Amino acid sequence: MSVNPASQPAPLEAKSPFEMRVNLGRDVPESDVRSALASGDMGFLHSFTTGSTVDGPGVRIVAWTTGCMFRCLYCHNPDTWTMSNGIPVTIARASEELRKYRHGLKIMSGGLTISGGEPLMQHRFVLKLFKAARAMGIHTALDTNGYWGERLTDDDLEAINLVLLDIKTWDPDRHRRLTGNDVAPTLDFARRLALRRRPVWLRFVLVPGLTDDPEDIAQIARFTAEAGNVERVDVLPFHQMGRFKWRELGMTYELQDLQPPSTELVERVQAQFKAVGLKTY
Ligand code: SF4
Repeated sequence: MSVNPASQPAPLEAKSPFEMRVNLGRDVPESDVRSALASGDMGFLHSFTTGSTVDGPGVRIVAWTTGCMFRCLYCHNPDTWTMSNGIPVTIARASEELRKYRHGLKIMSGGLTISGGEPLMQHRFVLKLFKAARAMGIHTALDTNGYWGERLTDDDLEAINLVLLDIKTWDPDRHRRLTGNDVAPTLDFARRLALRRRPVWLRFVLVPGLTDDPEDIAQIARFTAEAGNVERVDVLPFHQMGRFKWRELGMTYELQDLQPPSTELVERVQAQFKAVGLKTY
């Protein structure tokens, strides 16, 4: 596989996922994209950040992949939806970058988190990068909406140290309205992780008027508590840091004027998870 030399990829340097990035991989021929996805020898990254303390235990490197099958109304990174917006990165290059940080990550009890977009759009690349991380003794975490969890074998699941699983909402109709897709595959993946006793942190984005229904949250909380493998719950308040991206991409943003949840609402939702015995932040 080759990247057109006339269009060298952007340098792989630490960038915030909140920066807008588009078309960085647009010159990669379609056939190369297909073979990259099939082999996992090349992936597409929106950005990577160092020093994250909110994407898994310790201090972490986060690789943000491009490509997502969801279309969440509240998405703060819609530029990650399109795979070709990402920088094409070979597995060798990504591993080499990771190697620079391996000692620091271990000292700070951290690791590598792969997020997105949706990482399982590029699951072979993700698995290869995790394998490289493991060979360096680096802890691995997968941040996923779980929709394509079936792409991971049981052995793959054993090899991933932690799954950060996003459950957006419980009600199937609301989920479809919110994301454009069904909730069932995500819940099936959650059940499979529970059956295999794999460690999970649940991530729940709290959006006023969209995901704050008390009964809906009670269902998620019950399901999560009964699973028995969820170590903690992070209630993530909706914010507007991605609003400018929708505008610049020329996309209609239905939540243009929505305010973040109040402290009272965040506390009420946290209390619902705590009430069933879950460690919640
Ligand atoms: S799953 Fe994440 S990246 Fe994909 S649309 Fe939803 S919020 Fe955006």
